[in-house]
Amino acid sequence: MKRVILIKYGELTTKKGNRNFFIKMLYQNIKSKLKNFDVTIFKDRSRMYIEFHEDDLENIKKKLDCVFGIHTYHIAYIVDTNIEDIKNLLRELVIDLDFKTFKVETKRSDKSFPIHSQEMNRILGGVVLKNKEGISVDVHHPDLLVKVEVREKNSYIYFNAYHGAGGYPIATQPRALLMLSGGIDSPVSGYLAMKRGIPIDCVYFEAIPHTSLEARNKVIELSKKLAKYTNEVHLHIINFTKIQEEIYKNCHPSYCITIMRRMMYRIMERLLDKYHGLAIVNGESVGQVASQTLTSMRVINEVTNVPVLRPVACFDKLEIIDLAKKIDTYDISILPYEDCCTVFVPKHPVINPSLEQAKKEEDKFDFSLMIDEVVDSVDTIVVKEDEEEFSDLL
Ligand code: ATP
Ligand code: MG
Repeated sequence: MKRVILIKYGELTTKKGNRNFFIKMLYQNIKSKLKNFDVTIFKDRSRMYIEFHEDDLENIKKKLDCVFGIHTYHIAYIVDTNIEDIKNLLRELVIDLDFKTFKVETKRSDKSFPIHSQEMNRILGGVVLKNKEGISVDVHHPDLLVKVEVREKNSYIYFNAYHGAGGYPIATQPRALLMLSGGIDSPVSGYLAMKRGIPIDCVYFEAIPHTSLEARNKVIELSKKLAKYTNEVHLHIINFTKIQEEIYKNCHPSYCITIMRRMMYRIMERLLDKYHGLAIVNGESVGQVASQTLTSMRVINEVTNVPVLRPVACFDKLEIIDLAKKIDTYDISILPYEDCCTVFVPKHPVINPSLEQAKKEEDKFDFSLMIDEVVDSVDTIVVKEDEEEFSDLL
């Protein structure tokens, strides 16, 4: 009995004009995710089918769980589209299954197939009842749901459904740059942006010797977790030490964080040009810290016109933590190594900064050359999806 993986697209179905483009991207993404497996992938307008070797199934499922654009998938038995073959297959399949109640649901996509769905349900229900003792039909809460899809050449029978990652296939939107700190919020934001189909590069602002290599490794490990949803991500490391020291030397302590974040945004805008990105993504969440009040965000955001996506802007911390656990970044994020923001946090950061004062603080030193310098000397690491856990950090 031959099985295939049958993939349902979900959200793509809302995209009328772009449908083929979305399906093509999903196809390419699945193909590249499964490049190390001996599989054959077929696609049509509503389904994708993967032929696979049974030994690989569990590993293939793990990969598919990280492909955005898959709504659900099923491990389906495949048979020629003719009623006798379908009946025979179902008869063989139910013999080994353990259930007391069942229901058959047929979807007839091939409208030239002469038997209507309701009639198929009745015929196939009869086949099950005849070949199994002590069972009955229950249309509301069956132990076993038998799904049958009748398509032109082949038909499919399956009993299971696995949830896919949802969202849109990566690369159906242009690239964005994720500000990735070692915290809880930014990896979750990166995940949510990717789920909308946005490929991301990560950017980490580092202030060695004030921050440690462990802090950098943490960000690399977080990037690996995000790379699971593509195949690799580029992590751009920005040497922020000099700029940060100048800020702390020249600006009033209460404005240091505001100015520091304005500098980050200026650098991000330059990096978008350099790496062909269209938007900044970050983990800001309204009200979480002094630099994330609406007044602060307004003053910080003033330095740029590029779109800034803040996927967790209106999430509660607990909701963010739940997602961080789900995508397996939480345990890395809570490791104690400090990043450049935490090292320099002043005792009383301004909660409602004024734009005028922020500009005055910035007039106290010349930062434009320093920005050129860091943009010209970015250190980029290509981080690949990794099966090994980060045991050496714990
Ligand atoms: P996180 O939990 O993601 O660290 P946070 O609540 O600690 O966020 P902040 O430190 O104010 O908040 O940072 C807000 C956002 O700015 C972060 O989510 C991240 O996107 C970005 N950011 C902060 N520090 C850095 C850094 N060192 N490198 C890159 N991005 C940073
Ligand atoms: Mg942080």
